[in-house]
Amino acid sequence: MNLTHTTYDVLILGGGIAACATAIALKKNRPELKVLVVERKPRIKRNKGSMRIGESLSPQSFQYLQELGLWEAFQEQRFDRSYGTSAAWGSSQMYQNEFMLSPFGYGWNLDRKAFDDFMISEAIEKDVDITFNTQLGDYIEIDKTWEVCLHKNERVVRIQARFIVDATGKKAAFACSQGVIKEKVDSLVGAFRFYEFPLGHENTSQGILIESDVNGWWYSTHLARGRFLVAYMTDADIARETNLKNNVVFETELHATRHTGLRLIGAKPLGDVRLGAAHSQYLSTLATENWLAVGDAAMSYDPLSSMGMLKGLSSGLFGAYAVLDSLQGNNEGIQKYIHVMQSQWNSYMKKRHSYYLEEQRFSETPFWKRRASLPQNITNQSFKTTYHETSIA
Ligand SMILES: Cc1cc2nc3c(=O)[nH]c(=O)nc-3n(C[C@H](O)[C@H](O)[C@H](O)COP(=O)(O)OP(=O)(O)OC[C@H]3O[C@@H](n4cnc5c(N)ncnc54)[C@H](O)[C@@H]3O)c2cc1C
Repeated sequence: MNLTHTTYDVLILGGGIAACATAIALKKNRPELKVLVVERKPRIKRNKGSMRIGESLSPQSFQYLQELGLWEAFQEQRFDRSYGTSAAWGSSQMYQNEFMLSPFGYGWNLDRKAFDDFMISEAIEKDVDITFNTQLGDYIEIDKTWEVCLHKNERVVRIQARFIVDATGKKAAFACSQGVIKEKVDSLVGAFRFYEFPLGHENTSQGILIESDVNGWWYSTHLARGRFLVAYMTDADIARETNLKNNVVFETELHATRHTGLRLIGAKPLGDVRLGAAHSQYLSTLATENWLAVGDAAMSYDPLSSMGMLKGLSSGLFGAYAVLDSLQGNNEGIQKYIHVMQSQWNSYMKKRHSYYLEEQRFSETPFWKRRASLPQNITNQSFKTTYHETSIA
């Protein structure tokens, strides 16, 4: 652990997009702050190891990349642009949903590991300390300061921090250790597999395609270096009952589709089908006066929205403003942060509901029935009460 200090202003747990966005925003606004990012896994290597799912960056991200001061460096990465999605949703006919009609123009089809690595490099360049392969051990709060043990291999290092940011993704590890509840609104999972097109079999299908069916929906997209990704999104119990993680079952279902299977003709699978959690959830307490959650730790969205990374960037930015206020003894930023996040969640849930309602062909099957009921708004009451009542022993 090569830490430059033993006392930090802000300790950020997790080393994903939301963590890096928070760290970069803190340093951009107050370069003198001491910020430490602690990631439990090794550093990502762009072109090594298994590929990472979650590559569609929505056009609105432009404004947050710009606000974080990352826009020029991001452009230099030359990620593929994406001009919209095709969908067979609500009918078997395919239609185009073009970003060109949105005020932001185009989005990006990222090499996801390269983007995550880009965010880490930018944070390091801005003088953020980052330690990989490091776990949070015991911690205690004494006189508004967190005394924290960090474990790396056999080594234990003690540090102090004035504020903690939980950016540990869906785990929300720190918030949960504080007794906060993760409120799950569904049990969506994604079964996914990567493919490549051997020489002589050129991939002619570009862009993203979404295709609904009786138990969920298919997502497929081309990736950098001639690769392709296919995912099937359904509920955990349905994935289990249909044995979807089995390669043969997955391929049989895939080739029974009307559109998605056709995109894969000539493609060779790269590894087995993998299964990952993709449910929507929010935290019963998002923040208190000396910790807050950002990104998927705060709330995670259905991949249908393609808004996970956007939320990682925006919540990192807004979260950093709240932290800056709090470090100066002003809790207004935290309250504003809670308010912004709560309204984003409520508007996300409304959009999610109306989008799923557009598919009526399978409305009697469990997957679609579960999505037809009206979402509950998170009210001011639930966020504010927890904010005022929470005290960290
Ligand atoms: C199937 C699927 C498809 C998706 N597709 C898209 C898409 O196309 N577009 C999009 O925008 N979003 C997509 N998403 C969502 C997107 O990937 C996430 O919203 C985004 O990665 C969240 O970033 P984050 O930094 O909050 O969390 P993460 O990326 O999950 O990062 C959290 C980090 O914290 C680390 N960590 C965990 N616990 C600890 C601990 N105790 N101590 C230290 N470190 C810890 C983890 O190792 C990880 O590196 C998809 C998600 C799924 C499941």
